[in-house]
Amino acid sequence: MLYYSAHNQKQLVINWHLTEACNYSCRYCYAHWQRDEDVKDLIRQEYQIHQLLLELREFFDPINSRNPLAWKMAWANTRLNIAGGEPLLFPCVVEETVKFASRVGLKASLITNGSLLTERIARRIGSGLEVLGISIDSADAFSNQLIGRLNSKGEFLDLRQLQSAVEAIRERNPAIKIKLNTVVNRVNWEDDFSDLISLLQPDKWKILRALPVTDRSMTIDEEQFQSFVERHRRYHRIAVVEDNQDMVESYIMIDPQGRFFQNSPCSAGYQYSQPILEVGAVKAFEQVRFDPDRFLARYEDAEEGGS
Ligand code: SF4
Repeated sequence: MLYYSAHNQKQLVINWHLTEACNYSCRYCYAHWQRDEDVKDLIRQEYQIHQLLLELREFFDPINSRNPLAWKMAWANTRLNIAGGEPLLFPCVVEETVKFASRVGLKASLITNGSLLTERIARRIGSGLEVLGISIDSADAFSNQLIGRLNSKGEFLDLRQLQSAVEAIRERNPAIKIKLNTVVNRVNWEDDFSDLISLLQPDKWKILRALPVTDRSMTIDEEQFQSFVERHRRYHRIAVVEDNQDMVESYIMIDPQGRFFQNSPCSAGYQYSQPILEVGAVKAFEQVRFDPDRFLARYEDAEEGGS
């Protein structure tokens, strides 16, 4: 989708989910993709990551007339948002991706659950990131346990470690935007996030409603969602509220095997292209359903520094 960059330029954002592996097991997690046995995840081979980034750089170049999006809209630059799973399970891959993105002229951002973000890693990748997104659904141990946000050793997010890492990344890169993502669900919809917001001082706070992924046990109704939003109204300057309908067919997304995919409501699950590295981005992009009007509506709503 399109956003305004830190320099207030329109920016096209591509989400690359580089792995589906995660150290947490959230009950509403959607980071699961159909797997072709004969195609490996791109992170296994560094040269494939380089090829993917070069392909994306060329196809999503703002002046590439072969990109159908360019017929309807204009953007100044393109940002690769590295997502997962949990990308920091592979810190060297993230570091190399951030470096290579910069080398070929793509901006980079990262979305992480924060549990593996140490000061050391923050310093290594911080200068190459335009946005650091951290998904946090609760500061409370019991709530995190109910949601599934704990690792196999039963450890929860260490907020002090995260705060130190965020400080380190801001020190290394004062222009970076820190963004929190919160999925409002049946466990946390009555929570107050004020302490967490004070601790991390995010530039943006994206508030999403839990999607009915595998079952409906974590979903909430409109009234519950709005009560959460209302309770945090004093953060309206940084808050971006996103209902799940907004997300359908309005993101450019690539899975760990290097395929475009879409969460079309008309199909049971995702719709996939062929691997970009096999058929090229032009053909692969033609193979997924994409709603340019919904995309454009979000484009009009875009806000500075969002992700
Ligand atoms: S932290 Fe994110 S990727 Fe990991 S299980 Fe939770 S929702 Fe899924």
